[in-house]
Amino acid sequence: MTTRRLDDWSARDLRAVAAEHGTPTYVQDLDRVRANYERLDDAFPDARIHYAVKANAGRAVLKALREVDAGAEAASAGEVARALDAGFDPSEIHYTPVNPPDRDLDPILNGPTSGLTVTVGSRDLLDRLDARGFDGRVCLRVHPGVGAGHSEDVATGADAKFGVPAEDATTVLREADARGFDVVGVHAHVGSGMLTEEDVEAHREVVEVIAGIARDSPVDLEFVDVGGGFGVPYRESEEALDLDAVANATRDALADVDADLVVEPGRYLVADAGVLLAEVVSTKPTGDAVVAGADAGMTELLRPALYDAYHPIRSLARDAHDRPTRTVTVVGPVCESTDVLADARDLPRPAVGDLLAVGNAGAYGIEMASNYTSRPRPPVVAVEGDDTRIVRERETMDDLLRFERD
Ligand SMILES: *Cc1c(COP(=O)(O)O)cnc(C)c1O
Repeated sequence: MTTRRLDDWSARDLRAVAAEHGTPTYVQDLDRVRANYERLDDAFPDARIHYAVKANAGRAVLKALREVDAGAEAASAGEVARALDAGFDPSEIHYTPVNPPDRDLDPILNGPTSGLTVTVGSRDLLDRLDARGFDGRVCLRVHPGVGAGHSEDVATGADAKFGVPAEDATTVLREADARGFDVVGVHAHVGSGMLTEEDVEAHREVVEVIAGIARDSPVDLEFVDVGGGFGVPYRESEEALDLDAVANATRDALADVDADLVVEPGRYLVADAGVLLAEVVSTKPTGDAVVAGADAGMTELLRPALYDAYHPIRSLARDAHDRPTRTVTVVGPVCESTDVLADARDLPRPAVGDLLAVGNAGAYGIEMASNYTSRPRPPVVAVEGDDTRIVRERETMDDLLRFERD
């Protein structure tokens, strides 16, 4: 199944999870994570797939992906630590920091991490690695100056924050080699949410830029990393990404480049494998519409507030089919006007005590959860075959108070 929609989840199973663990609660289906990996692996049989840990760093997710032979793409020192903890070998980890402080670099370069690849996005990071005596594997992150993303805020291609400009790449590769680094690859990741034909064409342009750099490279490259950004259909009306089209565009653009292909998807592997369960705690009729207050909001799932992102939402009330449809806005418990999970959706008339499921919540859900308004973060329940188990405990008030000092 290429696309898993919110309706494909079993209402009975989700109600059982909520009955046992309460709400709000994340559910993550590890079988679906593996199926997503297999589908990508089929489309890119020659590529190395590195999972972008920041989409969902839960140990259960990391282990499931390690078991099917994924590598790990770590955006921070903390994610390197999480990947090591889940059993990834340093040789399978790419560390792609953005403006890392010294306290991140020092342990990474001296710890149990030898063999790890550092993706370098600025010349001064090379200086800093050099100053620390690092002469290990280095990959150059390039800012190709082309590309697309589903929102200005998540599109990083046009943003000079990430990578060295494409026109400087050859020079920097030569410098890095001359300084004794083991230069192994070039990399670009330009944003998230590739879904349409147009997006695939934008991806092709990015790969063409990196391919040009790889061809001109003064050193033999082991790999060319074309980033992540494989999208999932959040809206019911959206079609799934045509993976074969992406694979063909990538292959065409790389043509005669003699290096392994690396892709680093985050969202694609975990998004549709997760839902957030919430309970309706209040309803407020406003004309023909209803505002339903849920016990989950921006503290549990930030994407709607942060990106104006759309997530499907479904009533899991047993009699949902018998209820009249209303225009329902589902809001969270935080005193912020952006704390809206779903705006003006056609849903069965909500009632207090109803269970709601928010779909495609497996990526950038629990990872972006916060303790704003002193709300303990929700637990994660993993589903795997017939097994349902808690893989991240619900936080408690004691957890929040633990860091306080007079
Ligand atoms: C976030 C990120 C990814 C993953 O992006 P998705 O849209 O989740 O696939 C891959 N590579 C880098 C460098 C990233 O920062």
